[in-house]
Amino acid sequence: AEFLAADVEGAEGEPDDAAELAQPVLAVVGRPNVGKSTLVNRILGRREAVVQDVPGVTRDRVAYDALWNGRRFTVVDTGGWEPGATGLQGSVAAQAELAMSTSDAVLLVVDATVGATATDEAVAKVLRRSKRPVLLAANKVDDERLLAEAASLWSLGLGEPHAVSALHGRSSGDLLDAIVNALPEAPRDADRAAGGPRRVALVGKPNVGKSSLLNKLTGEERAVVDSVAGTTVDPVDSLVELDGQLWRFVDTAGLRKRVQTASGMEYYASLRTRTAIDAAEVVIVLLDASEPVSEQDLRVVTLVAEAGRALVLAFNKWDLVDEDRRHQLDRELDRGLVRVPWAERVNVSALTGRAVRKLAPALRTALASWDQRVPTGQLNGWLSDLVAATPPPVRGGKQPKVLFATQAGIRPPTLVLFTTGFLEAGYRRFIERKFRERFGFQGSPVRINVRVRE
Ligand code: GDP
Ligand code: GDP
Repeated sequence: AEFLAADVEGAEGEPDDAAELAQPVLAVVGRPNVGKSTLVNRILGRREAVVQDVPGVTRDRVAYDALWNGRRFTVVDTGGWEPGATGLQGSVAAQAELAMSTSDAVLLVVDATVGATATDEAVAKVLRRSKRPVLLAANKVDDERLLAEAASLWSLGLGEPHAVSALHGRSSGDLLDAIVNALPEAPRDADRAAGGPRRVALVGKPNVGKSSLLNKLTGEERAVVDSVAGTTVDPVDSLVELDGQLWRFVDTAGLRKRVQTASGMEYYASLRTRTAIDAAEVVIVLLDASEPVSEQDLRVVTLVAEAGRALVLAFNKWDLVDEDRRHQLDRELDRGLVRVPWAERVNVSALTGRAVRKLAPALRTALASWDQRVPTGQLNGWLSDLVAATPPPVRGGKQPKVLFATQAGIRPPTLVLFTTGFLEAGYRRFIERKFRERFGFQGSPVRINVRVRE
């Protein structure tokens, strides 16, 4: 997956603008025992159980998905970070520094029954420099009598102390309102709810069998609905029913009319192919199995992966493939398709109709992966085990730490790893491989961005 590594380079080193993250991140900081975990549980509505503090046992799960008033965000409990600074004050301050550089908003939790300690004041001082919003929770306000104590926390210079009782849930709704107001607006998953037929592009070099396949698909299923009055079909698209489901094959006008306006390599990697790929959600790259896999074929496969589209490789003219050719093809694929080991594959014959009915299931698998989202808690449970077993290689005498991850988006699935240092391309590929082993994502590219803390 070299191109995936290349995708990632741009994100390296520069913390991206918060808006890049589809799901904003709230980091919760504070001294031990002020009630951070309890409050995180409260914010999550206890949908995901937070591992309770057991002395000597480090919390290995730090990030979770939260939902309030229809707004999704990731909550990070920094208690599991162990920033490694000496002394309580230093370590909580270091935690706050990390929180500021990795999140979109920070929530400082203070124990109102204790009041502002020197450590709280040191942390507040760090947080007052934050360019991102900072909220203050005065916790353990179990009853009215403690409101005065909570109000005294104005002295921390972080604005209004939100008096809450994480244990009893008192006023946690008001705090959550303030949190979602402070977080940047998350863009919705692009047209996830839009509905309508999924968009498919059928691409491949001239004479590979594109129009034959389209004819076979439409002929057999007898359900082409081209520009029917009352439908919104773009005349260059074909609506095709496959396996009981309607699909929109984009930009097929040229294929149906068997008009080839240009030929050869230029046409193949042409703007038209790129446009079709961009317009699609999933791309069928048709290859001629009877001929050696060509550079052009590989170039288009790379285009699809770089465009972040789901991918089905269909090997056509399988009727011409004998045993010798099959072995040869296996070797060509081992070499040629190392970048897309995750692609769905089907061997078909547009001529005989062989295995053509396997296309729809392959498209569905690829799209399901393209739409798939791993919950943040599950992702981090897996990631912390992985990183503990195989830590990132030391670089320049420093061991980068992977703090947490979220799947920031789908279509294509995009992970963001929050780290304290540069992760080498080899290690990112290792993470991707293990991620796929654990969570699948067959048929879809997966992007891995790294946000390095300054
Ligand atoms: P953390 O170390 O900051 O994550 O703190 P915990 O969430 O583990 O809480 C520490 C202790 O404070 C636990 O015994 C909690 O039950 C208790 N606690 C948390 N929130 C409240 C609260 O609102 N009121 C009271 N009375 N106790 C609380
Ligand atoms: P396009 O340029 O990609 O649209 O390719 P066409 O559909 O025009 O097919 C090019 C040639 O390959 C035609 O002569 C087809 O009959 C032939 N062809 C297409 N599919 C198959 C197949 O599965 N097996 C065999 N043997 N020939 C095929």
